[in-house]
Amino acid sequence: MHVIVLGAGVIGLTTAWYLRADGHQVTVIERNDDVANETSFANGGQLSYSYVAPLAGPGVLSKLPNWLWRQDSPVRFHPRIDPQQWNWLLRFVRACTHRQSEGSTRRLLRYRFSAAI
Ligand SMILES: Cc1cc2nc3c(=O)[nH]c(=O)nc-3n(C[C@H](O)[C@H](O)[C@H](O)COP(=O)(O)OP(=O)(O)OC[C@H]3O[C@@H](n4cnc5c(N)ncnc54)[C@H](O)[C@@H]3O)c2cc1C
Repeated sequence: MHVIVLGAGVIGLTTAWYLRADGHQVTVIERNDDVANETSFANGGQLSYSYVAPLAGPGVLSKLPNWLWRQDSPVRFHPRIDPQQWNWLLRFVRACTHRQSEGSTRRLLRYRFSAAI
């Protein structure tokens, strides 16, 4: 079968790799000039199989002011005049509720279990 994989991040490339190993013809389509230039670019390399809670959680907002000044902070934010950045920030803040965080954790946990089986 000829399979088209959209996106050359870590997920697209590993998917393409295994499809190829399984004998399929694979074409990877990437909008950037190079591979892994978006989210996968800054991956910390942590193997976090058991970690399913999203960063956007109810306890995060009160910690943010302190985090933003620390050198070893888990969060870095460089404000820009960029509507996309502020839109993302707004959505992140809105996601920091118990309800949203619990829903995301449950969905991620279900996904982890189904991926592991
Ligand atoms: C700072 C940081 C640190 C992280 N550290 C860790 C860690 O330690 N451990 C861990 O497990 N996870 C970590 N993560 C999360 C992990 O990096 C991401 O979950 C993962 O990289 C997502 O990979 P992806 O292939 O799904 O997405 P991406 O890497 O974003 O790839 C998607 C690709 O699809 C392309 N694309 C999108 N739309 C189109 C289109 N229409 N046409 C063509 N191409 C398109 C994009 O250009 C992009 O290249 C980290 C994330 C960040 C931001």
